[in-house]
Amino acid sequence: MMRIAGGTVVTPAGRLDADVLVSGGRIAGLVSREVETGDQVVDATGKLVLPGMVDVHVHTREPGFTHKEDILTTTRQAAAGGVTTIFGMPNLDPPTTTAETLQDVLSRYAATSIVDYNHNPAATLTDQVPKMAEMGIRAYKVYMVVDTGRTYPHPAGTGMHDHGDLLRMMDTIAATGKRFIVHPHDQALMDYIEGRYLESGENTPQAYAQAYAEREGVIWDTAIDVVLRLAEASGCPVHLAHMQTRRSVDAVRRAKARGVDVTCEVNHWMPFLSRWEHVERLGPYALSYWVPDDAREAVWDGMRDGTIDIAASDHAPHTREEKEIGWTRMWSSHTGTPGIQYFYPLLLNAALSGQITLERVVEMAAEVPARKFGLPQKGALLPGRDADIVIADPDAPWTITDADVLSRVGWTPYAGVTCGVRVDRTFVRGVEVYGEGQVVGHPGHGQQA
Ligand SMILES: [Zn+2]
Repeated sequence: MMRIAGGTVVTPAGRLDADVLVSGGRIAGLVSREVETGDQVVDATGKLVLPGMVDVHVHTREPGFTHKEDILTTTRQAAAGGVTTIFGMPNLDPPTTTAETLQDVLSRYAATSIVDYNHNPAATLTDQVPKMAEMGIRAYKVYMVVDTGRTYPHPAGTGMHDHGDLLRMMDTIAATGKRFIVHPHDQALMDYIEGRYLESGENTPQAYAQAYAEREGVIWDTAIDVVLRLAEASGCPVHLAHMQTRRSVDAVRRAKARGVDVTCEVNHWMPFLSRWEHVERLGPYALSYWVPDDAREAVWDGMRDGTIDIAASDHAPHTREEKEIGWTRMWSSHTGTPGIQYFYPLLLNAALSGQITLERVVEMAAEVPARKFGLPQKGALLPGRDADIVIADPDAPWTITDADVLSRVGWTPYAGVTCGVRVDRTFVRGVEVYGEGQVVGHPGHGQQA
């Protein structure tokens, strides 16, 4: 029996000075320091002992875009970043729209994933939706996006925004009991808004950031209003990606109050990479969504009060070549930015600096995604749960560098940023996958969650 001794354990009931016993891949108990049991002692004196992050929004790029990333490189970063379960996304080649393509992706995770996994297929082919539910998936995804001027990251087959199509997908998914993840985007409004920028020759990261944030984020808000109303009309549980506007936080707060089954997520770039100075300094490498200060504060309020209930990385790596073009032609650049290796430490750092409580960070990163996405064995350090455990040092400032990036792309938008919390060790079902600065987990250790 393994004993993680001397740490502060963060549970749904609060912080405990207790030791964690692990046996057979599960948490056998939380015991006081005096109780003597356990032969293999892991010293966590002065450390935080936390549940591993359950990250429901991860782009592994495999199959189809493995020059950017693959499942092995993604899950190496996960292990290093304290993420013990990932859910992949369907914008692959081929896109995950059928039971056959889903089976192929699940086999790839089984072969090489270091951490536990699942996959969110697209729900665009509704005749495939019931078959895919039987394959153990937890959620479906759709993008209300048609890319302008590029073929990625939202390839054909994964995007739909017609309201009838959305309701048809929701009716079909509601019958499976799964959750529907939606990237909200009002394509008709965006066609008009970005058309005006492109016609006037404005194609910089700044123009792009302004287009997406235009009129206080109208393209996000109208899409979210539609999704919430259709969720209410269909009874389909929905999950909104990319929360970043004032009105959308308010809309979700009101929808929850009237009983709509909606969850929503904040992604790594919102709290840490969305200021105007990031758009200016990092350009295409920052994403580039600009969240004005009042909107960012509203999103933080939503994170603090539970309206925004999930933290998910939206890890979205692209090569430097795919990014560089964005300095002058941002609408041709692939958007998205890598983040799974650093999101949990940065959130924990925000907690230690008083922006949010440690308990809320753990709820958003682990407890709520596990509960809302049907993983009762994950998400909390409680007896009987999987021993998905992170030991983090709350007093170990370190600086993020490109040299330490485990992503295939070899860069991070956080290079130069100092973080006060460091992930020391990560365990998946009781097996160490990261420790002493090294990924030690074996490809294929991961299981479908
Ligand atoms: Zn995404």
